Amino acid sequence: MMNLLVTGGAGFIGSNLIRQIIDKPEITKLVNLDCLTYAGRLENLDGIHDVHPRHHFEKVDLRDKAEVRRVVRDHDITHVIHLAAESHVDRSITGPGDFITTNINGTFHLLEACREVWNTTANREPRTANRFLHVSTDEAYGSLGLNDPPFTESSPYAPNSPYSASKAASDMLVRSYHHTYGLPTLITNCSNNYGPRQHPEKLIPVVIHSLLARQPIPVYGDGLNIRDWLHVDDHCAALWVVLTRGRVGESYNIGAHNELTNLALIHHLCDLIDELRPGLGGNSRALITFVPDRLGHDRRYAVDVSKIKQENGWCPHYDFITGIRRMIESRGR
Ligand code: NAD
Repeated sequence: MMNLLVTGGAGFIGSNLIRQIIDKPEITKLVNLDCLTYAGRLENLDGIHDVHPRHHFEKVDLRDKAEVRRVVRDHDITHVIHLAAESHVDRSITGPGDFITTNINGTFHLLEACREVWNTTANREPRTANRFLHVSTDEAYGSLGLNDPPFTESSPYAPNSPYSASKAASDMLVRSYHHTYGLPTLITNCSNNYGPRQHPEKLIPVVIHSLLARQPIPVYGDGLNIRDWLHVDDHCAALWVVLTRGRVGESYNIGAHNELTNLALIHHLCDLIDELRPGLGGNSRALITFVPDRLGHDRRYAVDVSKIKQENGWCPHYDFITGIRRMIESRGR
């Protein structure tokens, strides 16, 4: 029996995750805790949130400690996948406050609720029935040079933005709850995701929107920052594998070995739109407009995913060229 709490289930990754796992036979009940910030939309769960018998929506803010405890206790939660967070780096630069209160304090409230309800204590073996999976980012490791090897799970943390610092801080709290209280925790550090239902403020949706509206495509700095792009369905499959088969107390990198400069990514999107939407007039690369760089912009992220592959048999199924083409084709004409 799994009474699974998914936090942030109305956001990009959370809604794709719920769609992917809600019918798994292991799940008895799936509770979706989300306070619906600007980034959360129940429409992302159309056909599920109001009709699926296993889906229970709790409009709760992680910053409300008593409410978080109520949800964990009343629903007899046995497993957690914790996604809810403030997630946009640019917003963390202009206003870091919500990143501290949601990503750090909110995670603390959830850890406390599970510690209390699961009754974990020091000097006791972790309870085998429970799992707390905390979803984090490769950005916690900081930035790589062009020729550096990818980050492994033992690379030191060196976050550079208020966003990544708040995620790194929450990861440290999760780690400490395992070591101190025996809470059965797992952490994942994932690379950049793309796919359906991503908020329009993120890079790929911004570029696609600009291309379709024939507006300038903003590119930070010289456009040579490198990111590793993973399809959200592959990320969600990895989260399920780690929740059900990961080793308690461990962390796992998740990525696609698909490193691209932002400029190469944007060129690819331009050429795809020119091919798939000839009516828009072609020559989309002419829309590219360089804008002043993001403050403290990390140059390169890349993660080594050998551990999750070897221990859990996970590997990504989408190749980027096919995944992005399908996404654009499915937007309709
Ligand atoms: P998102 O911004 O699309 O969704 C976040 C969700 O959390 C929203 O539904 C929002 O309403 C909810 N939320 C925010 N603050 C809350 C609060 N105080 N209480 C309750 N709910 C709250 O984010 P996403 O892209 O789906 O990312 C989900 C998680 O995955 C985050 O923890 C992020 O750090 C991590 N992650 C994302 C990526 C990526 O490329 N998107 C990569 C690696 C890790």
